[in-house]
Amino acid sequence: MTNSWFTIECINRRTTAISEYGHWEQGHSYLFEGSRKAALIDTGLGIGRISDVVRKLTQLQIVVLTTHCHWDHIGGHGEFDELAIHEDDQGWLEHGLPISSQEILSNLFKEPFSQKLPRCFDPYNYHPFVGKPRHVLHDNDVINLGDRQLKILHTPGHSPGHICVFEEETGYLCTGDLLYEGTVYASYPSTDPWKLHDSIKRIDSIEHVSRLLPGHKRLDIQRSFLSKARVALDKLADAEFVKHGTGIHECGDISFIF
Ligand SMILES: [Zn+2]
Ligand SMILES: [Zn+2]
Repeated sequence: MTNSWFTIECINRRTTAISEYGHWEQGHSYLFEGSRKAALIDTGLGIGRISDVVRKLTQLQIVVLTTHCHWDHIGGHGEFDELAIHEDDQGWLEHGLPISSQEILSNLFKEPFSQKLPRCFDPYNYHPFVGKPRHVLHDNDVINLGDRQLKILHTPGHSPGHICVFEEETGYLCTGDLLYEGTVYASYPSTDPWKLHDSIKRIDSIEHVSRLLPGHKRLDIQRSFLSKARVALDKLADAEFVKHGTGIHECGDISFIF
């Protein structure tokens, strides 16, 4: 199913990927529907109205779980009331990101859009969301959706308050920008390559991960991709490359910029 800007793909009967393939970063948000409540993991770029798509899928109350406070994951936050973010990214959500709007716009337009832009989108008026969350998340918090439980894992490195979201029952692991097929960034001053390595080790040690749900690029990456990333980082660490200023490291389907 497509809704002009968003592509909707079924992960299972009550889990949906809502993707923005028209933008070069090919971002994904995810809807988890429980018996009492639904969780939306990230809200995309804010180019189209993601709440219109969500409302067609469910009438349940929505809690938005923010994997991290980068502009391409919080674009639709203003369309929802119940926002949650890790305490270490909370300041950016409330006071704005520490980058200029010029930098954000040049990233937004870095490559041509491959899909027609929604009529409601005005690039001259594009500002990342700023606002207060209703919930502040901590490591190992559990979000109760009724008959589904989502565990919050604090996985810093790409951003200080980055989280992964794990559902033990299905084995689904939302990895945000910690891991996806493509170039993973830990080169900004606010990033930490060493912590990113630790976070990858942590999620690789979780048993029963059946499927990775990444923040960008290909949706159908295998569980083994996570172990490959860990091995690649272990080797980079042995060579003392896991630190700022060492540049880009190509490791097969994944590369890291430190
Ligand atoms: Zn990011
Ligand atoms: Zn991102």
